[in-house]
Amino acid sequence: MKFLFIASALALVGSCSTTKYSTKVQNIKDSIELVDSALVINYANSITPNELKNHVYTISDNSFEGRATGEIGQKMAANYIKTFYEKHNIISPIKDSSHFQTIPNSFLPNNTKTSENVLAFIKGSEKPNEVIIISAHYDHLGVTEDDLINNGADDNGSGTSALLEIAQAFNLAQKEGHTPKRSILFLHVTAEEIGKLGSLYYTENPVFPLENTICDLNIDMIGRVDESHTNNKKYLYLIGSDKLSHELHYLSEKVNETYFNMYLDYKYNAEYDSNHYYTRSDHYNFVLKGIPVIFYFNGTHEDYHKPTDTADKIDFDLLMTRTKLIFATAWQLANQEKRLLIDNGIFENTQSL
Ligand SMILES: [Zn+2]
Repeated sequence: MKFLFIASALALVGSCSTTKYSTKVQNIKDSIELVDSALVINYANSITPNELKNHVYTISDNSFEGRATGEIGQKMAANYIKTFYEKHNIISPIKDSSHFQTIPNSFLPNNTKTSENVLAFIKGSEKPNEVIIISAHYDHLGVTEDDLINNGADDNGSGTSALLEIAQAFNLAQKEGHTPKRSILFLHVTAEEIGKLGSLYYTENPVFPLENTICDLNIDMIGRVDESHTNNKKYLYLIGSDKLSHELHYLSEKVNETYFNMYLDYKYNAEYDSNHYYTRSDHYNFVLKGIPVIFYFNGTHEDYHKPTDTADKIDFDLLMTRTKLIFATAWQLANQEKRLLIDNGIFENTQSL
């Protein structure tokens, strides 16, 4: 009797999930319709190697002293970012804040001074309460014990510069009458190198409710080529895209296939990857709140976390293409009709029956 009961229960489970995995994937792929192709290409083309180069060289200059959290160089970088947004009239989402979200030193490790995230905002035209976040940390390691400056051109001058240029492209679109349907928050976080604390502070003190935060596209090191790709530089590691939303993963793939055709490498997205990159940059604080993410990353190289991570080693054409990919993905997320679906990766466990 007991056996029979189990058998009938199993039959029930079987009949409930008769849609094959491959069919489910195809259904999701078919449901994604790219929007505004001509506009996406037009505004992506406002992102240029020269502008990216100017940002990276400035942010990683010796005068910024490696941008250690709470120190003078980090403040200089924060001011550079803020001044950029003021110049382009891209507003702050925080009243009277001059774009700064101040993090008290009590939130930071001992002997670390007060620091700040830098935020800029474009308000959506149709669904302003739904917010896409694009993030990049701008702090770095400061100066070594031997007084060498950790310039952090790739980590994360590259991501910081990409974020500025993405904001500028959306701003240009807005000025020409193409305001995104959803809102976009450009989030430059501090204190990543000392424990992802700027993004933790944001997720503990969000400016917009997290339940209406659609996703976080996080950029951390996208200006270099790692050892595995010297023969095919047109690549980027994507991490996390399918973990909480399969729609995000296939949408990201479709944007890439349609406009850029980069090789998207998912090696570090593997569940048991020993590097655990999924947990190692700012996006992970959003994951912990149930928000889908994509982490964009070029992998490590011989200059990683060393004073030799300098601007002359950045490939600016490559940085441009990667920045355009992230811009176009954000455009789709902000402008597609339906809000991104969250499925918590459960889909992955569905048996092929
Ligand atoms: Zn970094």
